[in-house]
Amino acid sequence: MKKIAFFPGDGIGPEISAAARQVLETVAELAQMPLQIEEGLVGGAAVDAHGDPLPEPSLALAMAADAVLLGAVGGPKWDALPPAQRPEQGLLRLRKGLDLYANLRPAQIFPQLLAASPLRPELVQDVDILVVRELTGDIYFGQPRGIEVVEGKRRGYNTMVYDEDEIRRIAHVAFRAAQGRRRRLCSVDKANVLETTRLWREVVNEVARDYPDVTLEHMYVDNAAMQLIRNPAQFDVLLTGNMFGDILSDEASQLTGSIGMLASASLGEGRGMYEPIHGSAPDIAGQDKANPLATILSVAMLLRHSLDQEAWAVRIEKAVHAVLDQGLRTADIATGDSKIVGTRAMGEAVVAALRAGGQA
Ligand code: NAD
Repeated sequence: MKKIAFFPGDGIGPEISAAARQVLETVAELAQMPLQIEEGLVGGAAVDAHGDPLPEPSLALAMAADAVLLGAVGGPKWDALPPAQRPEQGLLRLRKGLDLYANLRPAQIFPQLLAASPLRPELVQDVDILVVRELTGDIYFGQPRGIEVVEGKRRGYNTMVYDEDEIRRIAHVAFRAAQGRRRRLCSVDKANVLETTRLWREVVNEVARDYPDVTLEHMYVDNAAMQLIRNPAQFDVLLTGNMFGDILSDEASQLTGSIGMLASASLGEGRGMYEPIHGSAPDIAGQDKANPLATILSVAMLLRHSLDQEAWAVRIEKAVHAVLDQGLRTADIATGDSKIVGTRAMGEAVVAALRAGGQA
């Protein structure tokens, strides 16, 4: 019996994750896969109930699960709280508690939504990138850090630091991901200037010896930022440290033009956490307007990476393509003559397409 910890969260979180849960339950039924889904509180919902964005029972639920499925957290209601009590802290603590060091973000263009990209269709039509970003190290966590006064002047500083084990484990994740794709890996660094990333390049080269079937190239981060706009279709897997990945994964996601379509996975040694890349969209919460497809595609990633069910992951992705082919659109991805549907109807359409697709 596989256990899924289910955290709907705040804003549109409960709506989009209800649709995703339905999809997961449908897969469990069709595949006759014993699955236990247990719901918990995180973010603002947990602050309201317990005064803490990640109460102890929620962390325990996540630790005991094979995978975590999350909607989104946050909203204006909690913006004035002190930093430690803010909903987003619940997410950060969950990632840290589960030691989720690898963030996987696919940026894939859906041919039905080509017009939504800010780039010309001929530039993005073949885009299918997986960004693999290190999530628990780098300048965001390095010590020493701070702001101090030196000789009457304020001075701010942070430390960019990686040890070779941290680099090695994320590199393995990226190489394995490339093996399941087009077998090309581009590792991003600034080895011409930063020693930390010179070590990064050295260790990635060492790890590459274990994967002779994957073609490795190295690219400086400034060039990578440029190439993502100039010729994004050249990339298969992009491997980055925490800070470069933070920036480049947002850039890559925007190539597709639709925040409501993009899923993510955060992986550690045992468990994984799956969530859409967007936030809780308080402006449309509770109106049945949110696009549930990013969360539904996160369920596909959950099946692929945590439950070893590649065939069912592909089935969900095909079902999403099928509903787009039918012309169904939530408002955020609608163009001229498309049929606008709500969150619930979009979720039900994916479930129907899944059922119509037969066995995996
Ligand atoms: P957001 O991603 O919530 O929304 C940005 C814009 O995109 C809004 O106009 C919103 O309506 C739209 N949008 C987002 N998801 C959509 C969907 N599925 N369907 C249709 N439209 C969608 O970002 P924001 O407005 O900057 O942040 C809102 C709250 O979410 C804040 O409290 C922020 O801290 C939080 N947040 C949470 C996460 C997370 O839970 N992982 C990530 C980012 C932001």
